Amino acid sequence: MIAQYKYRFYPTDQQKNSLAKLFGCARYVWNEALAHCHAVGKYLGYNHLSSRLTKLKESVQWLREVSSVALQQSLRHLEDAYQRFFNKEGGAPRFKKKRSEQSATLMSNAFSLQGKGVYLAKIGVVKPIWSRELPSQPSSVTVIKDSAERYFLSFVVEVKPEKIEAKSLSIGVDLGIKTFATCSDGTKYHSPDYTPLYNRIARLQKQLARRVKGSNRWERTRLQIAKLHCRIEDMRTDFLHKLSTKLTNENQVVCLEDLNVRGMMKNRKLSKAISRQGWRMFRTLCKAKSEKFQRELRILDRWEATSQHCSKCGWHWGKLDLSTRTVVCDNCNAVHCRDENAARCIEQVGMGQALRATVGVRPTLKRTWRSFCVAGRRPCKTTEPKGSVASVSEASRILAL
Ligand SMILES: [Zn+2]
Repeated sequence: MIAQYKYRFYPTDQQKNSLAKLFGCARYVWNEALAHCHAVGKYLGYNHLSSRLTKLKESVQWLREVSSVALQQSLRHLEDAYQRFFNKEGGAPRFKKKRSEQSATLMSNAFSLQGKGVYLAKIGVVKPIWSRELPSQPSSVTVIKDSAERYFLSFVVEVKPEKIEAKSLSIGVDLGIKTFATCSDGTKYHSPDYTPLYNRIARLQKQLARRVKGSNRWERTRLQIAKLHCRIEDMRTDFLHKLSTKLTNENQVVCLEDLNVRGMMKNRKLSKAISRQGWRMFRTLCKAKSEKFQRELRILDRWEATSQHCSKCGWHWGKLDLSTRTVVCDNCNAVHCRDENAARCIEQVGMGQALRATVGVRPTLKRTWRSFCVAGRRPCKTTEPKGSVASVSEASRILAL
């Protein structure tokens, strides 16, 4: 199993200069190759681009000042990006910008571990902060400078899967906006509140717009914004890491639903809140950790109607409005918290039980309507609705808190 181990380091001014050169050259090679592919109209393959690079080095002298391994890796990464694009796993490769995160990868022939330091070809020895030990000899290292000007070394290492007995057999997790995760055992996990930080970013963004682009003050504000973004990112990553570790560590099977994030993002009122959650990253982390702890991650089909059924008796009450938080079952009169019920349904489906949609006798329109009145709730319509059965039972079963 392959993992990444990331360590922060503080380069000297001289090292900062040579690192800037390295990042610049790696970025140049990527952008140049990408532009060439665009001009030709197709991806030419690593071998072709690599031999082009050799010729390019004759005319562009400064490319020789950095490690050639990093430049080759730039082309390898471009190949990976195109491969993902062809496999429909990602969008088309894009040009790299000077002010966003910078990185360059060195293979084992261009770096070595020297005691507490790490030797990087044509840069020298840097001293990372070893927050934990490397589990094995790394096969490659990526030097990263993020947009808040922090430097990191990210090693690719081989790790052995851990064997820990799981506390329970299975768990269903329902992801949401207000509560990040609701589990089928009833526990709820809230994500940290990012709003104050986002508000500060919004304020600074206004300030940035008033500054002259490229000036010292503009640069200062840009850096402040970048630092806040990094802080939010760190908070989110930390939260998602801890939660995914806890869930995969304690349960043998973790069931998640396949969320249609792209579709949900089309809802303008929710898109901001959704993009701040990091659902996709949570899924990726759960997947990686279930491998690490030898667990199983089951992703439900997107069209599984987990919020439309009673988790106790399988009764189908139809679609619920997003504002509905509590539901009373028609069939067995159980009171459910919406998210908890969905989490239980997710667990049931994930563990191979079909949701019993046809359990019991479907009530007639009349019966549904009566039970609605008995519940003592004010009807939303004063006459008996003529809509489909589902919409009536929906209206009758919803108790907004
Ligand atoms: Zn029920």
